[in-house]
Amino acid sequence: MALALIHTGGTIGMAPGPEGLAPQAGLLEGALQGLQRRGIAGEVTLIPLEPLIDSANATFADWNRIAEVIAAQHDRATGFVVTHGTDTMAFTGAALCFALEGLNRPVILTGAMVPIGQPGSDGMDNLAGALAAARRAPPGVWLHFAGQLLHGARLRKVHSQRLDAFAASHSDAPPRRPGEALTLHRYGAPRIAVLTFAPGGSVPALSAALEASEAAVLRVFGAGTVPGDPAVMAMLSRAAARGVPMIAVSQAAEGGVRLGTYAAGGALRQAGVLDGGDMTAEAAFAKLAHVLGLPKEQRNEALGRALCGEF
Ligand code: ASP
Repeated sequence: MALALIHTGGTIGMAPGPEGLAPQAGLLEGALQGLQRRGIAGEVTLIPLEPLIDSANATFADWNRIAEVIAAQHDRATGFVVTHGTDTMAFTGAALCFALEGLNRPVILTGAMVPIGQPGSDGMDNLAGALAAARRAPPGVWLHFAGQLLHGARLRKVHSQRLDAFAASHSDAPPRRPGEALTLHRYGAPRIAVLTFAPGGSVPALSAALEASEAAVLRVFGAGTVPGDPAVMAMLSRAAARGVPMIAVSQAAEGGVRLGTYAAGGALRQAGVLDGGDMTAEAAFAKLAHVLGLPKEQRNEALGRALCGEF
């Protein structure tokens, strides 16, 4: 049986245009044929998702489009490769983990830092590596990039130029939601804020964003502290009273939050902000988007446990 290669866009299939790099149809097809001629790729069905996009333009609808193709082809294909822009790869990796309950195939995301066909491109190596990984990796959503296979729900883009642009902290839990059969959870269009605290940062600005949101990721300091300004407490309490789910994640790259360590995290605990542990901001954002699509009575249970190794 064949692999399915879902091409969404991104640098891997871009070419220079008048305003800079932009997706170009046909590039990935040519690369795949080249690998097949060399006997590297095997049987692969290419599914381009038109229009090809820079992943900066990805929306919940794009997450749905990818997940829908995987769900539709799940029992026909032995594995999937998804070519995607690197800028929002970490969001899409987590989003697919949450969306595809009972996934029983490897889904391998990949992309490139330099377009295929340009000197020094990492595109061919990443594509060949992802196709090989789609034949042997355990079921779940992974990123294959610069020779590494990384957990799809724990991805961070850690460098904007280097070829090894991604990292993911280790988890024993695979990037897969267990389930007897595949259940596709579609995303709606929720209003979710990502709020970053800063010393002396404008609380009215944060508060206005929170007021306009149905859920929020709070990027807090270190192990889980925020400024002791009473206006911060008031803003969090108002959101909590409206039933707005809020997840605290750390601005530190490693280690995560542990609410309760410092008195300066008291406002978070008092407002019932969820401890995101070592979850990435990207995974927290995707999880909130997923949870807002569930019936109200199921939300707390889903927020309270790791669904696919995200924390
Ligand atoms: N801006 C591009 C994108 O995310 C970057 C990349 O693909 O590496 O689509």
